[in-house]
Amino acid sequence: MTRTGDQYLRDLANRPRSVWLGDKHIRDITDHPAFAHTARSIAALYDQAAVDTDTSVLRDPDNARSDGTPALRAYSIPHNHADLTAKHNAHDAWARPSFGFLGRSPDYMAAGAAGWATRPEAFTSPAFDGAANAAALYQRLRDNDLFAAFTITNPSTNRAISVDAQGAGDLLMHVDRETADGIVISGAKTIGTGAVFADDIIVGTIEPLRSEDEPYAFTLTLDPTAEGVHLISRTSYESTATSAADNPLSHRFDENDALLVCQEVHVPWERVLTYRDIEATGRIWWGTPAYTNMAHQAAVRFAVKLEFLAGLAMVIAEENGGARNPSVRAELGRLAGYAHTAQAIALGAASAYEVDPGDHGAVRVNQAIIFAQRQFAAEAYPAVLHQLRMLCGGSLTQLPVSIEDLSAPVIGDLLNRYSRTAGQTAEDRIRLMKLVWDVTGSEFAIRHAHYEQFYQGAPHVYLGQLAGTANAAAMAEYASTALHVADPAVVTAR
Ligand SMILES: Cc1cc2nc3c(=O)[nH]c(=O)nc-3n(C[C@H](O)[C@H](O)[C@H](O)COP(=O)(O)OP(=O)(O)OC[C@H]3O[C@@H](n4cnc5c(N)ncnc54)[C@H](O)[C@@H]3O)c2cc1C
Repeated sequence: MTRTGDQYLRDLANRPRSVWLGDKHIRDITDHPAFAHTARSIAALYDQAAVDTDTSVLRDPDNARSDGTPALRAYSIPHNHADLTAKHNAHDAWARPSFGFLGRSPDYMAAGAAGWATRPEAFTSPAFDGAANAAALYQRLRDNDLFAAFTITNPSTNRAISVDAQGAGDLLMHVDRETADGIVISGAKTIGTGAVFADDIIVGTIEPLRSEDEPYAFTLTLDPTAEGVHLISRTSYESTATSAADNPLSHRFDENDALLVCQEVHVPWERVLTYRDIEATGRIWWGTPAYTNMAHQAAVRFAVKLEFLAGLAMVIAEENGGARNPSVRAELGRLAGYAHTAQAIALGAASAYEVDPGDHGAVRVNQAIIFAQRQFAAEAYPAVLHQLRMLCGGSLTQLPVSIEDLSAPVIGDLLNRYSRTAGQTAEDRIRLMKLVWDVTGSEFAIRHAHYEQFYQGAPHVYLGQLAGTANAAAMAEYASTALHVADPAVVTAR
């Protein structure tokens, strides 16, 4: 059945989990001030998709679920450019309501699961055959419009030594023992973005493992409500947000990041996807379209975010009278240029699509271009934030505690008189600057800057990957051709 927002919230409430915010233990996040508004923002995405039957932007009539209704388009396996364009449009439609600030809307991992369903054979290895489990996972997620988060990063200790040598074996997520019907796991994974809001949490490892790390080489889909699963939340920006006017984005789009801790958690075999196989544990991300599909969503979402930020800059410049100043206009042009470049990367990666290896006829976005998106996003985002702050000047810091102060006795009159500008009431001015502060200066803003920098990997990893592609090798070959050009015939003047 098509999932509505209410159904999503009911499902969360009916499946109590162990979430920690400081020393507070929260079982139902849907009515907690640290999470409730964001849960509703995610619910609104489900409502948007529930009424999509006419336009088929968010749902794909050609990908029927077991009950015959169309699946969310993020779960589709693309076979040509038109399919990729349709997926682009679906990602775009879900990114717009949050202005690109919900990085982990449910379509992110859905796109990854579609990549897995493209090549289930990647889950088969001599140690364990997870192909049927992966296919069943895809079907369960797709048929129920589920939201899967993922934790595939080991807590950062010392990357120069093996996983096994870090934390004497009990720090990182590992298998304690096998039982007749599954495995028992303990340890930690970081950083579970959106994990507190998710129906399932994919647990795996994306970093290359060494041969001695075999006990850590597994992938599974965790029931977040299982006994022994804890999600330890970072500071909640939603809980410190005072109102939608004072903190317009952090108030409702704080997608949360949580440390996942498992203490002797039993995972049935049917939830295990790879097991005791280093190669298969990495291959399901890099050797299927899973990662590129997720990066496609990320590229489309980032383009929406930059469109929003460039638009915000135009609004600021118009209000503070700078819009027609040549140097301000040049900076506005720079921001619009960044937004267009982000769009071009997402569109170009789809246009230059590649046929996915194998004989299943699926395609994927261009790997080299989508990998380059990570570099562009990480480099462009701080520059965009910097420019927004420059446009605002000191107005960004000279803000009252709350928009409510405008109607308070005494101070209300003072603020209404002395915070107005030539073209704006005090309320409009304060609302605008509070929005820009939420985007550029708040704790939420800094977390987003960090997100765009790191969520797709550390720079030394993704830049190293870019240097190692076949395209990079072809660039070197092309450049080398300039080394061996025969001397041109000398043309002498007559
Ligand atoms: C906001 C946010 C959300 C995230 N969400 C998720 C999520 O939902 N799920 C998930 O699984 N992960 C998530 N991540 C984790 C993300 O994938 C990692 O941060 C990223 O892969 C880098 O790993 P690390 O943080 O352990 O950094 P490290 O690997 O520890 O690297 C940190 C820094 O150490 C230095 N360094 C370390 N090793 C080397 C080396 N060999 N060579 C050169 N320099 C080195 C570099 O300066 C590097 O930038 C998220 C991260 C952030 C910041």
